[in-house]
Amino acid sequence: MDAKKVKAFARAQGADMVGIGSIDRWEGAPIQMDPRQIMPEAKSVIAMAFRFNRGTLRGIEEGTFFSNYSSMGYGALTHLYIPMTVINLSKFIEDHGQEAMPIGHLSPWRAIDNEGDLRPFSRPVAPGRAQPDVMVNLRIAGYLCGLGEIGWSKVFLTPRFGPRQRLGIVLTEAELEPDPVMEPGTLCNRCMACVKDCPVDAIKRDQSVKVTLGGYDLEWNDLDCQRCAVGLRGGVPVEDEEHANYMDTEVYGMKVARGPHTPWRHKPQNLYKTGQAICGGRGCLRACMISLEGREVLENKFDTPFRRRPAWSVDWSQEDDATSSG
Ligand code: SF4
Ligand code: SF4
Repeated sequence: MDAKKVKAFARAQGADMVGIGSIDRWEGAPIQMDPRQIMPEAKSVIAMAFRFNRGTLRGIEEGTFFSNYSSMGYGALTHLYIPMTVINLSKFIEDHGQEAMPIGHLSPWRAIDNEGDLRPFSRPVAPGRAQPDVMVNLRIAGYLCGLGEIGWSKVFLTPRFGPRQRLGIVLTEAELEPDPVMEPGTLCNRCMACVKDCPVDAIKRDQSVKVTLGGYDLEWNDLDCQRCAVGLRGGVPVEDEEHANYMDTEVYGMKVARGPHTPWRHKPQNLYKTGQAICGGRGCLRACMISLEGREVLENKFDTPFRRRPAWSVDWSQEDDATSSG
């Protein structure tokens, strides 16, 4: 078994892109994000990209069919398609006598939150061990395995699909030939279309996070994850109870009103746990895809441009809440 056979098998199982990173690329990783804390003898990480269709974003672009992204583009990939592929690839590797662990999505059991702070619900089993569960950051794994780069928006970008994929990984004790890491700036040209189209100003234009990974200095915006959590669901944070009409609960202590980026009077129910991704396929994703396609830097080309009509926006200001709360 070698890298070529592993990649061919992963593609045959449904992965659109496959890249390999040697474990030494995680040298210096924070303990809670270090794959060696999970599998101390791991030698390779295999990252796979699974595209969601451009057509899946069409209903959001037209403002008429939102659930397709939350189901086919998000939940079904995360909870069905990617697990099946990473499990089958792990079986293939173990059939060749090397241990392999399939990781299809970020565990809700992870010990660190979106800001990287430790949650108090678990403790290390021994000195020097990470607190369970360790979270291997999938975007960083995608980058360290040579699949693409992390854009200014913090969304993972690949040369084939731009921002249009989700990622899965396999940790393995097999030593496989690694792929080169992509030089930062190959795809993201800091056009700031993602900043402009974020409805809740979660993506910062002037504030960034800088890290050195894979031999390069990387920089992306210092995303306000809490504002994104509101915007992602279609809401905007508000101060007053009177306009907090979009959800039954607050998000991170913020009251939530309907935003101009949702046509829903009330946040729709979850689908595969991700029915809340109203903005997930709208703001930063579409803006970035349109920008990258316009610059003709993506390999997955289309005969027609994605945006064919002016972008829509909903004016909720004239709605009577007494008749619109359903
Ligand atoms: S929209 Fe522009 S700045 Fe934002 S991630 Fe995409 S290419 Fe980079
Ligand atoms: S998903 Fe929406 S709210 Fe979140 S950063 Fe992207 S554009 Fe902003």
